[in-house]
Amino acid sequence: MAASSRLVSKLAVVTGGGSGIGRAVCQRFASEGASVVVADIDEGSASRTVAALPRGHRAQEHMAAAVDVSSRHSVDRLLTSIQHQYFQPPSLCVSAAGITQDEFLLKMDEEDFDRVIEVNLKGTFLVTQVFSRAMVSSGFPKGSIITIGSIVGKMGNIGQVNYSASKAGVVGLTRTAAKELSKFGIRCNCVLPGFIATPMTDKIPEKVLSKVLSLVPMGRIGEPAEVADVCAFLASDESRYITGVSIEVTGGLFTG
Ligand code: NAD
Repeated sequence: MAASSRLVSKLAVVTGGGSGIGRAVCQRFASEGASVVVADIDEGSASRTVAALPRGHRAQEHMAAAVDVSSRHSVDRLLTSIQHQYFQPPSLCVSAAGITQDEFLLKMDEEDFDRVIEVNLKGTFLVTQVFSRAMVSSGFPKGSIITIGSIVGKMGNIGQVNYSASKAGVVGLTRTAAKELSKFGIRCNCVLPGFIATPMTDKIPEKVLSKVLSLVPMGRIGEPAEVADVCAFLASDESRYITGVSIEVTGGLFTG
C-alpha cells in the first residue's frame, strides 16, 4: 500500500516493537512520517526494527529502547529516556507487547496465569497510565492510545485461559481510559486481531491452524501489516471522533 503522510511530526512509542505486529506498526507509522520509539524487552530486536525504518519525512528520528512493560520502574525509565531524547512525550502510544503461556485450565500453574496477566494486562495498564499522564501534563491535544487485545478475549480459546482473560481485561481498560481521558483530548481504542502470522502464531501446530482457519470466512491467516493499517487509522485524524471502541481484524472470524 502506498504510504501517506498522516503522521508527519508525530512522536510514537510502540511496545513490543521488536517483532510481529508491533514491528509492522513501527514500519507503518514511520512510513506515514512519525518518529518512532521502538520499545521491547529484547533490545536487540528493537534495534533491528529501528535499523529498517523509513526516514523519508522531514525531521524523523527513531530510537530503540529496552522496556519490561510489567515493571513500573522500567516503563517510567522509558518515558524519561524519551523525554531526554525528544524533549516531549509521545502523542501516540501503542501497547503491542504480549506473551502467551498456554495450558489447559485444569493444569495451569498459578505462575503462568500471573505472568501472562502481568505482561498483557498490567503492562498495558502501566504503559497507558505512564504515557497518558505525560500527555496530560504536556497539554498536548490529540493524543491517541492504541491497545492490542485479541479476538480470543471475546471468544475464549482452549488452552488460553490466562491469555483470554488478559485480553478481555485490555478491552475494559481501554473503554474506561477512553471515558476518563476524553476531556484531555486523548482517544483510546483497542484493536482485536484474529490469527496473524507472527512468531507468536508460528508455534501453533499446522493441524490446529488449519482447523482455526476453517472458521475464518476469508480463509487465510492475517498479515501484521493488516493490523498496522488499522492502528495507523486510529492514530490519525481520520478517526478523530472515535474513542473507546474495539476493532476486530480477523478476516470475519465470528465471535458468536
Ligand atoms: P510477537 O511475539 O511477535 O511480539 C511480541 C513482542 O513483545 C516481542 O518482540 C517480545 O519481545 C515483546 N515482549 C514480550 N514481553 C514483553 C515485556 N514484558 N515488555 C516488553 N516487550 C515484551 O507477537 P505478536 O503476534 O506480534 O503479538 C503482538 C500483540 O498482538 C500481542 O499483544 C499479542 O497478544 C497480540 N495478538 C497477536 C495475535 C496473533 O495472531 N499474532 C492475535 C491477537 C492478538
